[in-house]
Amino acid sequence: MTLKLHRMQLPREVLVGRGTLELVSDTCEKLGFSKTIFVVAGEKTLKIAGNRVINSLKQTGMKVGDMLVTSPTLWNVRAVEMKIKKKKPQLVLGIGGGAKIDVAKLSSARCGIPYFSVPTTASHDGIASPLASIKGLGKPFSVMAQSPMAIIADTDVIMKSSQRLIASGCGDVIAKITAVRDWRLAHKVNGEYYGAYAASLALMSAKLVMENADSIKPNDEEGLHVLLEALISCGVAMAIAGSSRPGSGAEHMFSHALDTITPNCALHGEQCGLGTIMMAHLYELDWRHIRDKLKSASAPTTAKELGVKGDDIVRALVKARAVRPERYTILQEKILDEHSARRVAETTEVI
Ligand SMILES: [Zn+2]
Repeated sequence: MTLKLHRMQLPREVLVGRGTLELVSDTCEKLGFSKTIFVVAGEKTLKIAGNRVINSLKQTGMKVGDMLVTSPTLWNVRAVEMKIKKKKPQLVLGIGGGAKIDVAKLSSARCGIPYFSVPTTASHDGIASPLASIKGLGKPFSVMAQSPMAIIADTDVIMKSSQRLIASGCGDVIAKITAVRDWRLAHKVNGEYYGAYAASLALMSAKLVMENADSIKPNDEEGLHVLLEALISCGVAMAIAGSSRPGSGAEHMFSHALDTITPNCALHGEQCGLGTIMMAHLYELDWRHIRDKLKSASAPTTAKELGVKGDDIVRALVKARAVRPERYTILQEKILDEHSARRVAETTEVI
């Protein structure tokens, strides 16, 4: 038997709690980065957290460069790469919700230097996963970049983010229920590598978020701890698996398809949550329970709540299979045409 090399790249330090922003410079020094740091942030995240971090790094005598980015595009990734090559920092810090962290993640990976994730919201698992979702790469889904060497999540900052962003985070975690089913199915049908440990970690995260859905809201520190730890665990599950398999299945493909039909209409985790209800129905799981837990977390469970036309939901369901044809999911087992897709959306009361 030949054993295929399986490489896992995991975070070294994970700090979740109140006031952890104060610990960014200590963590940099502890891991050997005491000279030059490059910060990727957005205009808003600079005000929320970035300036504080930059000042504390400068106070310890470190040289700090920074760049503000807007959207997670290949153009921005290249612009940051050029700056990194010029400034030659030891480490990149990504400070923000999703876009800034994704740009920091991919640009640092392409330059071969480590990065820290400093999330200001808890809206999806990209804050901890090795994958980056970047527009312009010719793929509507995430690509492998690198795991953060440290994740520093300050709940004082995240507690102030909106209910909508937090609900989106819940949707992205609950999505692991069908993502893991799809992974298991691909293993059974195609003999694809399946890691029970990574799968269990993702499923446990989904279970914990569902059990605590009522208390995951702004200003609820305990609830947000559950969500942050779940998002981080999902990111780590993908790092252990060496792919996005434990975190992304047909429900994510539905979300990516919806992105191509109605771009920037709703948040990633909101769309994935809605997709999970419908894929759970295809798996003959208790989709009502999933729907009710999403509702408890204030996440949208209908097309109307998502702000999308019913017809677009149907189109996305039909299109989802083709988004990632190499990824075997329930959508290959139960091929949806317009008629059957509409029935799925209607039965689950999404439309
Ligand atoms: Zn996701």
